[in-house]
Amino acid sequence: MGDAFLEVRDLTKTYGGQAAVEGLDLQVPRGSVLALLGPSGSGKTTTLRLLAGFERPDRGRVLVEGRDVTPLGAAARRFGMVFQHYALFPHLTVQENVAFGIAGRPAADRTARVEAMLALVDLPGYGARAIDALSGGQQQRVALARALAPEPRVLLLDEPLSNLDPTLRERTRRELKAALDAVGITTVLVTHEQDEAFALGDNVAVLHDGVLEQAGVPHELYDRPASFFVATFVGRAGVVRGTVAGSDRVRVADGVEWSARLPMPLPEGTPARIVVRPEAARFVERGGVGGVVRDRRYTGARAFFAVETEHGTLEVEAPVQAAQAGDRVHVAVDRAHAFRDAP
Ligand code: ADP
Ligand code: MG
Repeated sequence: MGDAFLEVRDLTKTYGGQAAVEGLDLQVPRGSVLALLGPSGSGKTTTLRLLAGFERPDRGRVLVEGRDVTPLGAAARRFGMVFQHYALFPHLTVQENVAFGIAGRPAADRTARVEAMLALVDLPGYGARAIDALSGGQQQRVALARALAPEPRVLLLDEPLSNLDPTLRERTRRELKAALDAVGITTVLVTHEQDEAFALGDNVAVLHDGVLEQAGVPHELYDRPASFFVATFVGRAGVVRGTVAGSDRVRVADGVEWSARLPMPLPEGTPARIVVRPEAARFVERGGVGGVVRDRRYTGARAFFAVETEHGTLEVEAPVQAAQAGDRVHVAVDRAHAFRDAP
């Protein structure tokens, strides 16, 4: 991810002795979207506020095109921000909200710009409406239009879809993606939803307890997770305990060894947590590891089966008819990911 438009180096912020963000390094190429993904409390909003200039870091720097903007206040950075709760002005119209950041421009420019932004977010002709007459999805798009109106250098979005109900969320996500593609603005988007991060991010950075666990393109995080946290937070996964049996093998029980990827070399015999993607596990007549089907989750013709074994619970993706809850089954695994077991 060289040639970054926006770059973060060693960014650190502590509240009352507790690090909310610690030693964070990020690179965002020009015109790309970085999705910052992590569970609640992992430091996502803190990172955005540090980027925006609403908070000062204890340590570290924010650079735009190689220039240090850390000493600059929020206004001087010329970043646009969409907050989790939109923060629209309820007593102003749609048009007045969108024009808020471009008040200094000549009236004709302002009108043209507002119209262009409302067209971009697919709300043409909505300028005179009151904010409380809009749906949640429409308010989200007005907030986006307002953030983009002053032509910011960088766009920051904090959980932009989290206030929407699931049916609206999917559609609004597509609209957001279309708007970001159309503008081509360098963007950092925060979310705790893996789906959203994968759908919207050119790159995804996974945060956990204020620390960057891994950054990369979506399939890299899924296929080559660098940590147990990433392996289980990103994508479906079964987890069993075993030991390292070689540079690319794990042992789950006597006579049961699987091909495995070890993101860092571990000596043979090291206790390991073994992560298995559902598509890498299959039912077999005999051999493999034995277990009982505890749950079957449909996704159309295929289903995900949770199989409880004495080593842990595996997930198996298979045709819906392959098994049902309560069945005793055998599971073979084609490949796994192995991580040092927590001490
Ligand atoms: P996220 O957005 O990923 O849910 P936050 O960045 O909001 O996480 O919070 C990260 C951690 O920092 C949490 O433990 C939170 O309680 C703490 N934190 C965030 N902002 C403040 C603040 N202003 N004062 C004290 N602690 C804070
Ligand atoms: Mg947050």
